[in-house]
Amino acid sequence: MGGTLDQLLSEVRLCAACAARLPLEPRPILQMGREARILIIGQAPGSKVHTSGVPWADKSGERLRDWMGIDETTFYDASRVALVPMGFCYPGAGASGDLPPRPECAPLWHARLVSHLPQRRLTLLVGLYAQAYYLKGRGKTTLT
Ligand code: SF4
Repeated sequence: MGGTLDQLLSEVRLCAACAARLPLEPRPILQMGREARILIIGQAPGSKVHTSGVPWADKSGERLRDWMGIDETTFYDASRVALVPMGFCYPGAGASGDLPPRPECAPLWHARLVSHLPQRRLTLLVGLYAQAYYLKGRGKTTLT
């Protein structure tokens, strides 16, 4: 397939693969630089993150940064940390909170994106959707 990471990110930002099933216009929200050593795979943006366009700019992001012991400057440095959710666009809300990440998203994009992280040393799977997808049932139900 080839191409640079910038080309791939441009392609992602134009994605409308599941637009018909989203409550709002597609707005893929992720962060990646080729030099990043840490990859964080979360679930999907909530409505607050959809509005701001900034990944993890909510309470869960504060908790994650506390847990990791890193500040916002480091967290939002794409050359250090890649932020790639299971679904890049806000999936909408149901009776008991936000809906799951769109299932089309990770199979469509993740492998290609991760192939652009040659220096990746650590991958954090945050949340049940990321763990279920990557650990195929071997995950535990806690963050760690
Ligand atoms: S959630 Fe993923 S697959 Fe769906 S439109 Fe957004 S980027 Fe494309």
